[in-house]
Amino acid sequence: MFRIIKKSLKTGVVTGRHPDGNAPHEPVSQQAIEKAKPFRRSLTIREVDTGSCNACEMEMNALANPVYDVERFGVHIAASPRHADALVVTGPVTVNMERALKDVYKATADPKIVIALGDCAIHCGLFKGSYAVTGPVERHIPVDVRIPGCPPRPAEILAVLAELRQERSPSDK
Ligand code: SF4
Repeated sequence: MFRIIKKSLKTGVVTGRHPDGNAPHEPVSQQAIEKAKPFRRSLTIREVDTGSCNACEMEMNALANPVYDVERFGVHIAASPRHADALVVTGPVTVNMERALKDVYKATADPKIVIALGDCAIHCGLFKGSYAVTGPVERHIPVDVRIPGCPPRPAEILAVLAELRQERSPSDK
């Protein structure tokens, strides 16, 4: 135990931001903001992993912890696409998940928002060119919002959700 702690202290921090990690976020389009109008006070998300490394999911899951507490902004996570207003898709679309993604998209009631979360969902990221990958999310279903990063941090995801829903302070409501 002490040996491991000593080794970790000696090694220090070995992770860091990706060189493109400081790229400015693409602003949320006016079209997506209009589409999200019915969800300004309540937005239910269904998360779909089409082949990610799971780091994007971990950041997404962190939104529900007591630090970020996304529920206080009226954002809920659903277990079924039938209860969802938005799909958050992570990872490149693998051969095995292509059909499932299309089925989930069909099962989600209109109007719906599709959010591509992470570089893999946007342009296949690290998995580009893999024999198991059929392409980015927008090759299969229409994408309204893109959140780049590998993975994007929970605070960045929250900022985009706030921008999408044009959140105002309680005094403006
Ligand atoms: S964008 Fe990065 S963190 Fe997210 S699934 Fe791809 S490799 Fe993993």
